[in-house]
Amino acid sequence: MGARILVIEDNAANMALMRYLLEARNHLVLEAGSGEDGLRMAQTEGPDLVLCDIQLPGMDGMAVARHLKSDSEYKPIPVLAVTAYAMKGDRERILDAGFDGYFSKPIEPETFALEIEKFLGGNSTARGPE
Ligand code: MN
Repeated sequence: MGARILVIEDNAANMALMRYLLEARNHLVLEAGSGEDGLRMAQTEGPDLVLCDIQLPGMDGMAVARHLKSDSEYKPIPVLAVTAYAMKGDRERILDAGFDGYFSKPIEPETFALEIEKFLGGNSTARGPE
């Protein structure tokens, strides 16, 4: 049973790759190209999981995670960072913002979807479309 996964990413090539890898695993992909659109879609579309780039036009991924995790209605949704950040201390800042985990770019096609599925648990049936 596939999950509804919201991908917030402004880079078209990365978005296409993530869509391809997730759809190959039977997941439904919802796309947002900015932090504002992503936050709104997270609140209205009921995704089972959110994948979020950090560097986005306007509101960045850190702010998206803080908004979602400060609201009890959306806090249970796993939010994972997909980031090119690899500097010392970035992991702590990402987790401090409320992200449940993170993936470093470049995306690793062999393991990407499988790693994400570890965060789905039983959620995909608990939060289906209304
Ligand atoms: Mn970006």
